[in-house]
Amino acid sequence: MTDAAIAVVGASAAGLTVAEALRRGGYRGRLSLVGAEPRVPYERPPLSKRVLTGATPPEDTAIRDAGYLEKELALDLRLGVRATGLDVSGTTRRLTLETGEHLDCDAVVVATGVRPRALPGTEGIDGVHVLRTLDDAVALRESLLTGGDLVVVGGGVLGTEVAAAGRTLGLRVTLVTEERETLGAVIGSELGGLVAQVHRAHGVTVHTGRTVTGIPSCDGRVTGVCLDGGLRIAADTVVLAIGSVPVTDWLADSGLDVADGVVCDAQCRAAPGVLAAGDVARWWHPHHDRTLRVEHRMNASEQGMAVARNLILALDSPGTPALAYTPVPYFWSDQYNWRLQAYGVVAGADRVEVLHCDAGAWDEVPPRALALYGDGERALGVVGIGLHPAAARALRGAVAGDASGPVPWGRALDIASAANDGNW
Ligand SMILES: Cc1cc2nc3c(=O)[nH]c(=O)nc-3n(C[C@H](O)[C@H](O)[C@H](O)COP(=O)(O)OP(=O)(O)OC[C@H]3O[C@@H](n4cnc5c(N)ncnc54)[C@H](O)[C@@H]3O)c2cc1C
Repeated sequence: MTDAAIAVVGASAAGLTVAEALRRGGYRGRLSLVGAEPRVPYERPPLSKRVLTGATPPEDTAIRDAGYLEKELALDLRLGVRATGLDVSGTTRRLTLETGEHLDCDAVVVATGVRPRALPGTEGIDGVHVLRTLDDAVALRESLLTGGDLVVVGGGVLGTEVAAAGRTLGLRVTLVTEERETLGAVIGSELGGLVAQVHRAHGVTVHTGRTVTGIPSCDGRVTGVCLDGGLRIAADTVVLAIGSVPVTDWLADSGLDVADGVVCDAQCRAAPGVLAAGDVARWWHPHHDRTLRVEHRMNASEQGMAVARNLILALDSPGTPALAYTPVPYFWSDQYNWRLQAYGVVAGADRVEVLHCDAGAWDEVPPRALALYGDGERALGVVGIGLHPAAARALRGAVAGDASGPVPWGRALDIASAANDGNW
């Protein structure tokens, strides 16, 4: 395994995991890690939480330092360099970099993540922010520290986390979403409604089912957000958290299928010698009988490891069938003094059963709730809010989507209760 050449494009959670797992698995050949950002890989989850509130200094988000990457991992490290094209037509895969260089490789891993969806007409307005990179977080925090009115557009995980951080910093916060409830598209309106109540209890003004019609500015600086029906909300800072788009434009001429992500088979292969991992990958999940694309931190690591395993199999034991990647997706969100945890597939479920939901004074005590998600027959997802971490995790096997998972609709509360020390 010394004369091969592998390039990983995207130097973040997924790309770094691929590189580390390849070296751990014994791969000694050339290993290039190409990243558009001019910094070492860092964690994004703290950016909308502790970095915004100031609890974590930006530099503490680094996952590894450059010395480790170059010396211990012996990487051909190219940070601040964008890949601009991939040619898969020949016997090797030819990666083109913005420097004009070409890297001829036996395998290329695409791990280029996603970028924030833009709101046309708002580019360049001072005080209007998106949040994906460390630089975005530093710029947003600076703006939040000037105080005043924060308007968050988008009621998904990112939008609700930013709203919580804004309140923690003492700003007046308004959150606007087109959904019927905050987090509605993520965890359904049943628990989404609870999350909206909690935000209101913390002093956030929440507008659901509303559309943004304009973002007015004066002398290039944002002054407000206009909603359908004529409402105008004053704003010193606006955060656009309206979803994201897979970064595949650089693959436009590659011939790969890039319909909402790099489309892969169950083994994370997009074409011979081309694999994908992390937020950008849309792969076939056999237990769910469809493709999934998962924008979760845990998936970036798990899929990165799966991709490295299959690359090593192909190099070490040609002809050995590659392994299917069949994770139980997991994500968390931290807001105020509670954590939401989700296992399995919860978005867009046909059936949602709220098994437990406290009523309380949410600004003082964390909410506690548990819900199960599925398609009527099978339970495919579980969400716990404010519970002992073991409570939702206890149902992980039950929502795995494979044949071994029992159908726990009736027993789920007992299982989770036991793991939550019976303490509801
Ligand atoms: C603010 C924020 C908070 C989050 N919080 C949570 C959370 O609480 N829980 C959770 O489960 N998940 C969370 N996530 C999601 C999690 O961080 C992502 O799932 C994870 O970062 C995905 O890793 P990735 O490596 O696939 O993609 P990314 O982290 O997006 O990295 C892709 C990298 O590829 C680079 N790149 C793009 N194009 C090119 C190119 N052409 N050439 C070279 N490099 C390129 C990009 O610059 C980027 O550095 C959060 C994300 C954000 C932004």
